[in-house]
Amino acid sequence: MTIEIKCLKCDKLTYAKNIVDLINDHTDHTFGENGGMIQCKHCKKLGYVLDALKLQKLGQTCNRHIKGVFRIPTEFETVFPYVYLISQKKDQNPIELKIRYYKGRRKDGKRLKVGHGPDGIPLIHNSGLAKIAEKLLEMKIIST
Ligand SMILES: [Zn+2]
Repeated sequence: MTIEIKCLKCDKLTYAKNIVDLINDHTDHTFGENGGMIQCKHCKKLGYVLDALKLQKLGQTCNRHIKGVFRIPTEFETVFPYVYLISQKKDQNPIELKIRYYKGRRKDGKRLKVGHGPDGIPLIHNSGLAKIAEKLLEMKIIST
């Protein structure tokens, strides 16, 4: 599933092949190899991915903006939880988190499956959650 990235500065579009490509090649790596804020390939400024949510009322959508994405460090070999940092407006700082996961092998990104699972979001180890909270505090996305 191709992911369209819009730049906040130069207005150019770039495309990630899938979630792994988005995390690895289209972020500023604030979270190291696990991702960061969405970045434009052309000018290296910040960008976003439109997250259009269909509402129950016919024909209505709620547009949110994915401003960052990072993997949650995990011991699992084939299941990778990740977090979207989401803002309501495109030029606003992220104020919401969406936790999802993809399945696949780290090396061959071919058989990727993305979702939130039949039982809801993936299990996240306490230490993984602590690392996320620490980083989000540092980035001033959350506060105490
Ligand atoms: Zn740009």
